[in-house]
Amino acid sequence: MTLNSATPDFIDSLRAGLSDAAFREAEPRYFEEPRGRWRGQGVVVAPDTVEGVAHVVRACAAADVPVLPYGGGTGLVGGQITPDGPVPVILSLERMRTVRGLWPEENVMVVEAGAILQDIHDVAQAADRLFPLSIAAKGSARLGGLLGTNAGGVNVLRYGNARDLCLGLEAVLPDGRIWHGLKRLRKDNTGYDLRNLLVGSEGTLGVITAAALKLYPRPHGEGTALMVVEGPRAALDLLALARDHLGEGVSAFEIMHRQGLEFLAETLPDIRQPFDVIPEWFVLIDVGLARGLDPATALETLFADAFEAGLVSDGMIAQSEAQRHAFWEVREQIPEANRRIGSISSHDISLPMSVIPEFIARGVGVIAGIGAFRINCFGHLGDGNLHYNVFPMPGCAGADHVAARDAIKRAVHDLVHEMGGSVSAEHGIGRLKVEDLERYGDPVKLAAMRAIKAALDPKGIMNPGAVLRGP
Ligand SMILES: Cc1cc2nc3c(=O)[nH]c(=O)nc-3n(C[C@H](O)[C@H](O)[C@H](O)COP(=O)(O)OP(=O)(O)OC[C@H]3O[C@@H](n4cnc5c(N)ncnc54)[C@H](O)[C@@H]3O)c2cc1C
Repeated sequence: MTLNSATPDFIDSLRAGLSDAAFREAEPRYFEEPRGRWRGQGVVVAPDTVEGVAHVVRACAAADVPVLPYGGGTGLVGGQITPDGPVPVILSLERMRTVRGLWPEENVMVVEAGAILQDIHDVAQAADRLFPLSIAAKGSARLGGLLGTNAGGVNVLRYGNARDLCLGLEAVLPDGRIWHGLKRLRKDNTGYDLRNLLVGSEGTLGVITAAALKLYPRPHGEGTALMVVEGPRAALDLLALARDHLGEGVSAFEIMHRQGLEFLAETLPDIRQPFDVIPEWFVLIDVGLARGLDPATALETLFADAFEAGLVSDGMIAQSEAQRHAFWEVREQIPEANRRIGSISSHDISLPMSVIPEFIARGVGVIAGIGAFRINCFGHLGDGNLHYNVFPMPGCAGADHVAARDAIKRAVHDLVHEMGGSVSAEHGIGRLKVEDLERYGDPVKLAAMRAIKAALDPKGIMNPGAVLRGP
């Protein structure tokens, strides 16, 4: 199917069903993405009701114009960017931010898809509840994008990813019909699960306009520690010990490497370095405990047992909220430090947890076989999810190694695949990993995905070129 560009006449034809406020200035932010790999194109339309979204999608379907669902623009795989082809309508949800309802007794909240994650946190907190999905881009990422990419983040270990936190959806399907699926049910076995199909579909199967979200009681006491470990194997043993001590109270378990702290020191010197001497490997452990349990005491007991078992050699336990924040800032600013250094190739991968130490050891050899590079490997160890990023040596720029990029990516992904892992743990496929999906994806699954796409979006107007190769 050949698609058509959104011409000025076509955009004018949309005015019948939308207010003037829906037609947005073409600000540069809509055409940029965090890593600067692509520049996008499109005409931005931002309805403020689900009927407005349906009106736009119906018109696009009738005129064969591509639709690009758009949230906060923080996606890391280019799903929110159309660099070439027919000019799409960038369908921004930014004006749909209403909290439609909050039921503290059910631990449920219904929110429109344009809500920013930080605002959702604040509304939940005001009701003495927790919405646990948390990523460093929480001040910009919007609910539709978080669900569209099935975002993960730092609390997956305890609460699951975006998919696990979603009970129901309202969405506009590619023909413009509205699906009213905002159920607040924990159990609903009524046939195929359209909600789970749309979550993680990266705007290729429809536009999410609102969601029913799971909330949780707020932990009574929270604590954070940094602990120095000998290496990834000791970190995994420490995680097992922490869960033995604290059960589901462990809400985050992040591993970091010396390279991350060195990048922070170089690019963001105002961030307080936690250690006098930078260790090779260390972990951040975050706990949230029920009434009657003191997090600092629990972390001290854990540290003492881990020290005795030879798993940790040094550590610090946050003594205040400010110190907790400072520990977390180290973790959350590492992606920004990486961005400032400029990677040659970045990989968001997951592996069966027990093979991670072997993967990290083999990875060093694989990268050294290609050339002299620096590796910053860090991430959500508790979920088996590593961010494995490869950088030039000091004094060189990422751009100096464009020729090596494909070889590095291929070598890392081949190793991940061989060891039973995934080449996209939490960022999605977008445009960046279409070929990887074709190379490493199960062919039967791919055929089923293409059949689903053809059934729901026969004209291929929804985010063409993302996830699956375009028409
Ligand atoms: C500093 C930083 C840290 C990050 N950390 C993490 C992390 O820890 N874990 C993680 O998983 N991700 C992380 N990300 C990636 C990114 O923030 C997530 O992918 C986020 O979910 C994208 O949300 P967004 O609103 O910005 O979506 P966008 O970037 O606007 O869109 C992303 C994708 O979702 C689709 N989409 C957007 N809105 C809708 C909708 N309403 N309906 C259907 N599809 C839609 C788009 O078409 C696109 O394919 C990080 C990004 C940055 C910049």
